Amino acid sequence: MYVVGSRQFGLSSRYDCHVYALRSAVGTLLIDSGSGLGHDRIVANLREEFGADLGPGTILLTHRHPDHIGGAARLSAELGWPVVASALAAPVVMAGDEVGSGLAGAQAQGGYPAEMRLEPCPVAHQFVDRDALELEGFSLRAIRVRGHSSDSFAFLFDQGGRRGLIVGDILFYGGIVGLINSPDSSLQSYCEDIGKLEGLAVDILLPGHGLFTISGGQRHIDMARAELQKGFVPRTIGQGDLIF
Ligand SMILES: [Zn+2]
Repeated sequence: MYVVGSRQFGLSSRYDCHVYALRSAVGTLLIDSGSGLGHDRIVANLREEFGADLGPGTILLTHRHPDHIGGAARLSAELGWPVVASALAAPVVMAGDEVGSGLAGAQAQGGYPAEMRLEPCPVAHQFVDRDALELEGFSLRAIRVRGHSSDSFAFLFDQGGRRGLIVGDILFYGGIVGLINSPDSSLQSYCEDIGKLEGLAVDILLPGHGLFTISGGQRHIDMARAELQKGFVPRTIGQGDLIF
């Protein structure tokens, strides 16, 4: 498991989520694509780790926000790697929909440079809740968990005797949730869907921002779930020094 893009780890653009590269004997599974503003550094990081010939790969998108999908078009074109996205995110990705992705709204709030554009990107495969995905030697289960956005998915996988969960911006290390001030983000949806992540015995937790961990991942999920189920609002991103 490699991290090849990230604002916080200083690996690429300051507008990029974490971009993970999961490598198997078959190929490379890239998790999210960053904003596109860190494209050259992400490609350079991939080549530094894996060599000039990167071989086959797939880009799997967790949800349609611009810091996660903005780089998909150029990465897919340059590397020849197909993009896989949920049926909810795919229309936004394929159209380069700057309103639907939240880019236009975030630009108005000063969250992204005004000149940033979202390029339309073909989506080779679309999935829905509970689908099994076989990508680059990894078997993953797609789990829709609304709350951060209505199209947010987690992906459960087993590898090398450990169980991993890719969570995008659903939740973060320390039980922080991704509740944001956006019409598509909903505390009620968190309450309704967080139980889908109960009892998964997750070791490796791979969020789209902040720390990741390779053991005890379920603890962070359970911290958020416990607060929600007790009727409290868990700690969330954007508050003081949490995550951002
Ligand atoms: Zn997001």
